[in-house]
Amino acid sequence: MQLAQRLNSVTEPQTIKMAKMSRELKAKGINIVDLSLGEPDFKTPDHIIAAAVKAMNDGFTKYPPVAGFPDLLEAISIKLKRDNNLDYATSEILVSTGAKQSLYNAVMSIVDPGDEVIIPTPFWVTYASQVQLAGGVVKYINCGIENDFKLLPEQLDQAISPHTKLFMFSSPCNPTGSVYSKEELAALVKVFRRHPQVLIISDEIYEYINYSGHHVSIAQFDEIKDRVVVINGMSKAYAMTGWRLGYMAAPREIVQACEKLQAQSTSGANSITQKASVVALLSDLAPTYKMVDAFKERRDYVIGALKKMPGVKSNNPDGAFYAFPDISAFFGKKYGEYVIHNDLDLSMYLLNEAHVATVCGTAFGAPTCIRLSFATSMTNLMQAMEQMAVALAQLI
Ligand code: PLP
Repeated sequence: MQLAQRLNSVTEPQTIKMAKMSRELKAKGINIVDLSLGEPDFKTPDHIIAAAVKAMNDGFTKYPPVAGFPDLLEAISIKLKRDNNLDYATSEILVSTGAKQSLYNAVMSIVDPGDEVIIPTPFWVTYASQVQLAGGVVKYINCGIENDFKLLPEQLDQAISPHTKLFMFSSPCNPTGSVYSKEELAALVKVFRRHPQVLIISDEIYEYINYSGHHVSIAQFDEIKDRVVVINGMSKAYAMTGWRLGYMAAPREIVQACEKLQAQSTSGANSITQKASVVALLSDLAPTYKMVDAFKERRDYVIGALKKMPGVKSNNPDGAFYAFPDISAFFGKKYGEYVIHNDLDLSMYLLNEAHVATVCGTAFGAPTCIRLSFATSMTNLMQAMEQMAVALAQLI
């Protein structure tokens, strides 16, 4: 069968591949501690579930407007002002089926074949795949652990060319947990001011999962706000991954283009989820902060445990719920029939020998690292760290 060539550049995400492999081992009766997936292990708060039930009973079971229900657009506008001091009219907001679709809409509306898109690495793999689907050319900038995996202004300045159309990043970052401070963003903004043709996608889905203080959005810099697409959603902050609701806030022209695209793809986000999201966005954030407290405790434990393992180098993630240690010290080492050549070998070794599922760093453009999600119970994390420590110590 002759399938479309545009799919040749797209691979199955390693995160999903690893989850599949660990499910297979679990089906064989092996107790795998799964640290591969990026979703909160908490239940969606009851008041949000109740709002969804009410929406169904109230008859919100028909096609919603393509851009989103007016009350949800209003709630997002209120949230952006309340939490980020950002002014967006409802006509500058578009609701989609998860932040992933918001990103997809934005990339497809901005990137033409041959356009250059700058992505600092490590990055969330979906960015590169979406750019490639649009025919764009990804230009990666390597950001090392020595600078907490953050992009320096001089690196950005060097990477931008006359062909650069777009820059994409996340803060807090998946997979590194790095959070850009106001000063660090200001330094990047200074560079963007010199290159007015570059648009910016700022993925802020982990906004609340921040252990270092208050979230800063690059859209808060007035001098570039008219070039920024803010992406956010319900998945991480409200434990609503399965509900599929994301949104963008952006200049009207971009929102209108994305609405056109969405009208011919999904017709808009799930009506029931939208109604529940209005309640989530306008209610107290206490359940979110309770989750964040639990993530912080787990972060402290996991990073402490990793730092005690000889050969493992880790940053101190200030946000999100991932550890992203450098494990290159194990390359060239062996145990029994296992030989560790690279990150994938180590990830497979940990799965088979320590029974811990991780994701290799190559999936995020960082082949010296692996990603461990700490969005699971302390009991699971303690078991995983103990088993990992034993398995890594066996490698010589
Ligand atoms: N952006 C980042 C950085 C993510 O890690 C994820 C999910 O893992 C998403 C966006 C997508 O979130 P959603 O569930 O809203 O599609």
